[in-house]
Amino acid sequence: MNLHRAKYIIRLDDACHQMPLEKWNIFESFFDDNNIKPIIGVIPLNKDKGLGSNSNPDFWNLIKSWKNKGWSIAMHGLHHQCEKIIPRHSFFKFGNKSEFVGKSLNNQTKIIQQSIDCFEQNNIEPGMFMAPSHTFDSYTLNALESSTRIRVITDGFSFRPFRKNNFIFIPQQLWSVRKLPFGLYTICIHPTSMKMDQIHKFIEELEKIAEHIISPFDINFENIKNQGFLDLIFEKVYLLISRYKFKQK
Ligand SMILES: [Zn+2]
Repeated sequence: MNLHRAKYIIRLDDACHQMPLEKWNIFESFFDDNNIKPIIGVIPLNKDKGLGSNSNPDFWNLIKSWKNKGWSIAMHGLHHQCEKIIPRHSFFKFGNKSEFVGKSLNNQTKIIQQSIDCFEQNNIEPGMFMAPSHTFDSYTLNALESSTRIRVITDGFSFRPFRKNNFIFIPQQLWSVRKLPFGLYTICIHPTSMKMDQIHKFIEELEKIAEHIISPFDINFENIKNQGFLDLIFEKVYLLISRYKFKQK
């Protein structure tokens, strides 16, 4: 019996003008060789100095080339500058810093509008939203609803996508490769902060599950139900375990 039936989505965080291309290129080659179409979290106007210093003038063309390959482009905030927050103030009660949580609806709407303007000026329509540090609140969703056509969020904790507050959530639960018996899991990767040997090791792990990796475009969005009892049970158990097991980034 094949106990390994889970499907996986790959998401790469922190694509920005300053990202170290030599690291990202390794992932790109691996994805091309294995026909993997990940989600890319794009920061349109990065001001987070921790993500690199040399600005790539060809950045938006690179993002366009990835979109043309069928990769999913997500709006990853605006500046990627986060302030400390209390985890229970964020939508999934997870994460300790944020670009959004704690700000008024008006301020969050301005941030979202500035971000979507930047995407539009570069002729890219992001298909989903990826909050820096996984932290947002209901105001962020309101701002997305009023200022963008984005209705899909990569975040949340369940074993399947679900609907909540007029949005579809494609859960993001893993930061490493774990073989699981059922469900859909998004694996979050930060190429910029990884060392070269860590990248090669991670890719070796990804190779083992490559045939089980799908694209968000493979999801049947018609069949996604409202967040229910089973999703909430998963969320509760997950958050309990994550206090001990997972690092929050
Ligand atoms: Zn990030």
